[in-house]
Amino acid sequence: MQVFSKFPELKTTIFTQMSALARECGAINLSQGFPDFSPHPKLLEAKCKAMKQGANQYAPMQGYMPLRERIAEKTQELYGFVCNPETEITITAGATQAIFTAILTFLNPDEEAILIEPVYDSYLPAVRLCKGIAKFVELNPNDFSVPWQQVKKLISKKTKLILINSPHNPTGSTLKKKDLQELEKLTKGTDILIISDEVYEHIIFDKQSHESILRYPELAKRSLVISSFGKTYHVTGWKVGYVVAPENLTAEFRKVHQYNVFCVNLPAQIAFYEILKEKSLYEELGQFYEEKRNFFQKLLQSTRFQLKKVEGTYFQLVSYEKITNEKDIDFAIRMTKEFGVAPIPLSVFYSKQNDYKHLRFCFAKENETLEKAAEKLTKI
Ligand code: PMP
Ligand code: GLN
Repeated sequence: MQVFSKFPELKTTIFTQMSALARECGAINLSQGFPDFSPHPKLLEAKCKAMKQGANQYAPMQGYMPLRERIAEKTQELYGFVCNPETEITITAGATQAIFTAILTFLNPDEEAILIEPVYDSYLPAVRLCKGIAKFVELNPNDFSVPWQQVKKLISKKTKLILINSPHNPTGSTLKKKDLQELEKLTKGTDILIISDEVYEHIIFDKQSHESILRYPELAKRSLVISSFGKTYHVTGWKVGYVVAPENLTAEFRKVHQYNVFCVNLPAQIAFYEILKEKSLYEELGQFYEEKRNFFQKLLQSTRFQLKKVEGTYFQLVSYEKITNEKDIDFAIRMTKEFGVAPIPLSVFYSKQNDYKHLRFCFAKENETLEKAAEKLTKI
């Protein structure tokens, strides 16, 4: 049988590749972004309890209502955004499914989606599956700020959506108030949708507050705002996230969502409902990771890597310009094999594989893991 591939040149994701290589080589895995520490015991207990008490069948398609109510309370408290959990919040199988479903729901063939590079790897394949056209804008390579004038130049009658992500994976930069104001100005009076990937909303440092789209009523009217419990509660393997969007957008989103996954793991939803009561867990997450960032940065000072500024996320970007001229992918593989630490090369986040000699390290690790990794990195 001849197989006609929709994506003949698409390879297995870099995260899967690098994690497999790290395992194979017995290297410390600072590549794929996930914590190596345990989630809060109350979260585990709540999930076990839910299963034991019989919450083992389908959840409602839109999500477990008490969880949606709690999310509505949280978004109001944090961002002053009032929404109706019945019609404006949908629980998804992680942010990946939310983003994919959102793009599939709204993007038609030949319509344009503006993507800001370096860009998280799941966005473009969804655009391509819709036969949409991706238009790329590159973040300023010095401070990873968004060049809004270039975004403006790309906006046309064919523009259907703009994808943004803050705090930003892989650079660790964040959008500021002036960025959101600029976006509001550029999209005012148009039918352009915003898909805002805010999975690191609580992992933000140096007393900054997260500039969620939900703080901007004019933008929120045209936006799907996506978050993930995997990041907030150290359970990336549970794959539960959610989308906040106005009723008219949510109604369309759910038409696709119901046939895409139908519904999401019920005991996990009940456990997140319980754990959301412990507000300090998300309120103090930024501080927790800020300490990790500082700890890791200090350790890296005795290496030849040059550190980039990290304002949020659990990723540290470094330049290895002073070490070698190798392509970043080659160097990432060699580092894993020869030096026993696995990173992610930055070029995979660019449509044209721009090679700025940068690597990304995940610092969502026990201090001991970070120390062991740094010891190896000093030998490079
Ligand atoms: N968006 C970004 C920017 C991410 O970094 C990730 C995963 N780390 C996701 C989306 C996917 O989140 P989830 O694991 O909830 O699917
Ligand atoms: N988002 C995680 C990262 O950036 C990886 C998730 C995945 O493996 N798809 O490392």
